[in-house]
Amino acid sequence: MTNKQIPVLDHGFVRLVDNMGSDLSVVRSARVSYDAAWRSGVDKKSDHRLIHYLWKNGHTSPFESVTFTFEVKAPIFILRQWHRHRTWAYNELSARYRHLPEEFYVPKPEHVGQQSAGNKQCRDMEGERHDSASAIRDACAASFRAYNRLLSDGVPREIARSVLPVATYSHMFGTVNLLNLLKFLSLRDHEHAQWEIQQYAQAMQALAEPIVPTSMAAWRSSREK
Ligand SMILES: Cc1cc2nc3c(=O)[nH]c(=O)nc-3n(C[C@H](O)[C@H](O)[C@H](O)COP(=O)(O)OP(=O)(O)OC[C@H]3O[C@@H](n4cnc5c(N)ncnc54)[C@H](O)[C@@H]3O)c2cc1C
Repeated sequence: MTNKQIPVLDHGFVRLVDNMGSDLSVVRSARVSYDAAWRSGVDKKSDHRLIHYLWKNGHTSPFESVTFTFEVKAPIFILRQWHRHRTWAYNELSARYRHLPEEFYVPKPEHVGQQSAGNKQCRDMEGERHDSASAIRDACAASFRAYNRLLSDGVPREIARSVLPVATYSHMFGTVNLLNLLKFLSLRDHEHAQWEIQQYAQAMQALAEPIVPTSMAAWRSSREK
């Protein structure tokens, strides 16, 4: 297991647990089409050009030859959004097996903003600051008191957890290939995505960057247009 871990939000993180392949895997997979995989890694400029060409023209399958496993600790409401991405393989902590520690997400006042008037699902970060911290903290603490009371009364963990808020931290391992990671990043490192999941998307970019710098550059340049 690597120790490359980036803190995210107040108690969360993303860690790169495992990875396979690199930019070289992408060009090798592409060149096997014309029986020239052996040419990869010889001329860096040619490899660089090929990766940009592949991404720009939608020849995406070579990007599937690279895989990553991330460990993610995040509030349940973020993991719910994450799990909509069906192309990942997931394993998550089970609150049927384990008593969940009292850890929940409380946003900093500067990250709360206000409900956007122009976009139903977004928030505007400018303008008046709402101090929601104490209300969130009180509500979550009350839920955890109820949870712990139910457990100490002998209620099964799988039932007691039903009182916990979606701000509760959970954690998971998620495995994804580079193509579907880039699709995830396009959607979730985007101004329309929730600010909190954008932070996780940016942490994964920083972890993937040293492994596939040219592929990341090709993806980024296509977004800038
Ligand atoms: C800003 C934002 C707001 C959202 N709001 C809502 C909402 O209000 N309600 C809601 O329910 N969801 C919402 N979603 C979730 C969204 O609809 C997608 O389910 C989610 O983003 C996963 O995207 P995906 O299917 O491209 O990802 P993945 O499941 O990882 O799939 C990646 C790609 O693989 C292909 N693919 C995967 N599975 C299939 C399949 N079965 N058939 C065909 N092609 C497939 C597609 O090309 C897909 O783009 C929102 C997402 C975003 C980013």
